[in-house]
Amino acid sequence: MSEYTKILLEEDEMPTQWYNVVADLPAPPPPQLHPGTLQPATAEDFAALFPKALIEQEMSTQRYIDIPGEVLDVYRLWRPSPLFRARRLEKLLDTPAKIFYKYEGVSPAGSHKPNTAVPQVYYNMLEGVKKLTTETGAGQWGSSLAFACAQFGLECEIWQVAASYRAKPHRRTMMEIWGGKVHPSPSDITEFGRSLLAKDPNHPGSLGIAISEAVSEAVTSDEVRYALGSVLNHVLLHQTIIGEEALLQLAKVGETPDVLVGCTGGGSNFGGLAFPFLREKLAGNMNPVIRCVEPTACPTLTKGQYRYDFGDTAGLTPLMKMHTLGHSFIPEPIHAGGLRYHGMAPLVSHVYDLGLVEAIAIPQLECFAGAVQFARTEGIVPAPEPTHAIAAAVREALICKETGEEKVILTALCGHGHLDLASYDQFMRGEMQDLELSDEAIAEAMKDVPVLA
Ligand SMILES: *Cc1c(COP(=O)(O)O)cnc(C)c1O
Repeated sequence: MSEYTKILLEEDEMPTQWYNVVADLPAPPPPQLHPGTLQPATAEDFAALFPKALIEQEMSTQRYIDIPGEVLDVYRLWRPSPLFRARRLEKLLDTPAKIFYKYEGVSPAGSHKPNTAVPQVYYNMLEGVKKLTTETGAGQWGSSLAFACAQFGLECEIWQVAASYRAKPHRRTMMEIWGGKVHPSPSDITEFGRSLLAKDPNHPGSLGIAISEAVSEAVTSDEVRYALGSVLNHVLLHQTIIGEEALLQLAKVGETPDVLVGCTGGGSNFGGLAFPFLREKLAGNMNPVIRCVEPTACPTLTKGQYRYDFGDTAGLTPLMKMHTLGHSFIPEPIHAGGLRYHGMAPLVSHVYDLGLVEAIAIPQLECFAGAVQFARTEGIVPAPEPTHAIAAAVREALICKETGEEKVILTALCGHGHLDLASYDQFMRGEMQDLELSDEAIAEAMKDVPVLA
């Protein structure tokens, strides 16, 4: 076993339950609030958007939730996913540290997002929903949902931010191959979209506008619902299959992590990897440092404030207590599109507030430099988002080189970058720049965050 490179699980070793971290936290997370009454949101408040089963999971305090058999059947197309020991990267860095990465790029869409897209579509199908709507930026979530809808025979309608609809045609093609119907947002389908196009026919769009369009289409019919790919409790719940598998895989080689690092956009791949390890830490079975890694251009945890804010730019969602840069904040166009979100999963914000996890921000040049080192040794070209996790692992491994410590470092390589080569191209031509976010820009966007009595 000493020379292993990848640690695999048999299909019948795949975990059959998701883990709900809420059950084990020393304090319950603050409730979501109805934006009108400011009272805790009820299941009714979500009923026009999500099926009952997902609303129950959103509010659940039950420790383990069974994964339905039909969802496990689809998971088996790519799960269990491999855990790799990055021996060649370790050698390049000349570090005594052991670096492990859980690779989620083996899914059909090339990222961790199908782990939640599949159960979300399944529960909608059970409740008679015929069509799901959603928004997508670069296209990772839209393609995952289109794939999942194809598995269960639902229609899928996607509003893709117009700027990336035009700049990233290949993701759109993937969505269409899986049967998705893709509109650039703003679109002429919704009233809101038409009003924006009337002002500017070449409107570049934004995630906030695309959410508004997808939501407004979902609430028009009982057979249509909406799906979100990150941030919410039920999304993080579904992603815990990543950490549960990684625990089993590390046990096979007799290792426990000393440091766990993960990239945080909305917080779903991080929560998915970290929460099962946090359970073990709280139970006293191991003691890893658990660290979120975000871009310096969108430093939600490290520079945002922990308070109630809207999940979308238009202010349609319930108010969530989370680390936020303000819902009107528009981040600079950094290459890790999936990390450009003004807020953070309420559960990740809560465990950060409780001091159970740490956070750092890393500039994109260091991230891409780490990713190129990684690709040249380990072979896989990472998506721009997990380049942040890799850069953090490299930082940690280089500290071990200085101190001689043989730390075990664990991270998630949550997607491959085969459709993001333009960013690598820019990096290698020397045309990429680091973007710092000024305190003035943050203060400006925070002005729009609701002030609660
Ligand atoms: C969407 C996405 C992210 C960001 O979302 P999280 O909820 O923070 O995981 C990160 N990496 C990849 C590959 C993505 O597709």
